Order: sequence, then structure tokens, then C-alpha cells
Amino acid sequence: MDNTPKTLLAPGPVSIPKDVLDVMAKPMIHHRVPEFEDTLKFVREQLKTVFETQQPVHMLSSSGSGAMEAAMVNVLNLGDKVVVINSGKFGERWAKMAKVFGLELIEYKVPWGESANLTQLTQILAEHPDCKAVFCQACETSTATQHPIFEISKIVQQQKDCLFVVDGITAIGAMKLPMDEWKIDVLVSGAQKAFMLPAGLAFIALSEKAQKRMANSNIPKYYFDLKHEYKAYEKGQTFFSSPVTHIRALELVMHKIAGANLDKVIHRNQALMKFTHKVCLEMELEIYSKKPAPSVTAINVPPEINGEKLRTLIEDQYNVTFMGGQDELKGKIIRIGHLGYITNEDIKVGLLSLGTALSEMGYNKTPNQWKTVIKKYEDLLQ
Ligand SMILES: *Cc1c(COP(=O)(O)O)cnc(C)c1O
Repeated sequence: MDNTPKTLLAPGPVSIPKDVLDVMAKPMIHHRVPEFEDTLKFVREQLKTVFETQQPVHMLSSSGSGAMEAAMVNVLNLGDKVVVINSGKFGERWAKMAKVFGLELIEYKVPWGESANLTQLTQILAEHPDCKAVFCQACETSTATQHPIFEISKIVQQQKDCLFVVDGITAIGAMKLPMDEWKIDVLVSGAQKAFMLPAGLAFIALSEKAQKRMANSNIPKYYFDLKHEYKAYEKGQTFFSSPVTHIRALELVMHKIAGANLDKVIHRNQALMKFTHKVCLEMELEIYSKKPAPSVTAINVPPEINGEKLRTLIEDQYNVTFMGGQDELKGKIIRIGHLGYITNEDIKVGLLSLGTALSEMGYNKTPNQWKTVIKKYEDLLQ
């Protein structure tokens, strides 16, 4: 097996700090022993500071989509009308789920690369006063675009009895998303993004209004029935076996990103975004999104270059992982993830390998020009 560490610059999974990996290698303990219950208690308190909520933040043993599913099945009834803001692959996932769970789906399709238009959304909601929830991504990872969550929330609040459900999976820990202050009713995230852990742990918090809905929700569910989790939470436990390894590692991550460190982490993401934009723009690459997110940057691949080949070349030759585009964007964009644990060296190595590979494929900027520009802007990373 090749153990050379990769420079992982995907918008999740992200690389894991060495000290966190070490915690994950510790001998197993049972999840119903005091030592673990202390960890769980600490992590839960810290998670509230990351979600910026007074409500419990539950941990589920699943990837992020499990929390998305839990969000949907716990606060709605069969046949309820919902509006899904679909601006890419993850918005599409909300829409697919809504169909599977027997909801009446109203889809607001936003052109890829754009964020939701507030006037259009207002119109749609006016046409559907009986809509029970609005679903959105804070950052649509497939197009590297952020949505105006605070503004959308204000529009949703005008509706009678309508919840605002936000997928914050590539947003929490990368941009401001204060759940209580912005009146988000359900907020979800996942471990392999800003939380610097492997996939397999998801987070979900419900506002008081959403918790009331949960009591009567009749959509069939078993594993993701949050009523059990609320009861177990009261007892300082999780309902099913706790993912002890993940949660112990999360304890250490909380020291890095929670509480007073949250602002620093968000600031760091802004800096990484700015640096990436400056370097790429100066090297005459275009940024794909009209409203770029701080967690991931999508670059248009120059038309003369095959984007799939470019990505493979960077992976094979330079040991750097970026993501390409999906569906209509396949081969057309390169997505550079810069959330979670990204060192200055990582992003510099990543951009230089992008530049070198582009140059090899005939792009008119030399690796030396890339080096110069990377150096020119490196102060942005301080
Ligand atoms: C990564 C991601 C998810 C969750 O994907 P999983 O593979 O289920 O963890 C959901 N939404 C967004 C916006 C994401 O970036």
C-alpha cells in the first residue's frame, strides 16, 4: 500500500490532523461508562457553540445525508407541501428525498452557479401559503455557491407555520450560520467537512418550533426517529451504540474549532478562499460561481483543456486530490476544497500542482508564473 500522504483538497472528505488520528487509534471503551459519558457531555456542549444554538445537537452514526433524511422525516407529515431550493446536486437530493417520503414537492430550480433569488422565492411562497417547510443548502457544494440564508430565513418567517431547514454541511465551521439568531428550524452537518473527521458522523439540531412538529410527525421512520434521541440525550446518552471513536476524536476537534475558536476558523476559511481566488484570477482562470462559497472554490477549466484529464493528471502526477464537476459540469470545472484542516503548505502545493498540470496540458502560464503569484499573495494566509 502506498502511504504517501495525499494533499486532500476536496470539499469533503478533508484531511485529518495527526493528533486527531492518534485519538482514533486509542483502545476501545464501552459507550455506557462514565469516561465516555463525560466526553459525550463535553462534545454536546461544544457543538451548541458551533451551531450557535441553545437546543441539543444530536449526533447520528451516518454520513451527512442521514441527518438530511432525519431532518425531513421528523418535522413533516405524509402529503405535506414543501419547497426545495434546488441549485445543484445537494438541492436535488432534498427533492429526491421529498418524493421518496411522500411529500408534495414544489421545486424552485435555481440555475447552477447562482444563488437563490429572493424575489422569486417570495413569489413561490406566496403561491404556496400552505407550504410546511423550505429546504435549502447554506453552501451548494456541487457548484461551490453560497445561498443568502439570513435573507431567506426572513422570507420563510413571513409564512404561516413553515419551517426553514438548512443543510449546513459545507457551511458550518466555514461561514457564519448562527442557528438561533437566524431562526433556522433544522440545521444539519457532517463530520468529514469542517469537523476534520472521517465520514460516518452527522449532526442535527431542531428549533423549539421544529421539536413541536416532531411530536406529531407521521412519516415512517425507525433509526432516524429523533424522539428516541431526545430522551437518550436527557440521560446523557445516545439511543443506539455511540460511535465512540468518532466522538472521542470530535472532543479534540472541538478544542480546535468550537467556542472562541469558531470565529478564527471562519476567518481562516475566508483567507483560504481569498488566496485561492487571487491566485487563480491572476493566472486568468475564471471562478465558476456567481456567489462563491468560503469552503470550496470552483474554477472553470479553460475550454481547450479536458477537465477530467486535468484532474487525473493532478491526482496521479502530483498526489493532490481535487474534485471535478458533476452532471452538466463534468469536465468543465475543478473544485478546490478549502475547509477543515488545510495548512498553508497544502493550499500552496495544491495550486502549484494545478498550475503545473495546466501548463503541461498547454495552458499559457508557466509553473514559475504560478510560483510567483502564490508567493505574492501568501501573506493573505497569515
Ligand atoms: C457532503 C455534503 C452532504 C452529505 O454527503 P454525505 O456523503 O452523505 O456525507 C450533503 N450536503 C452537502 C452540501 C455536502 O457538501
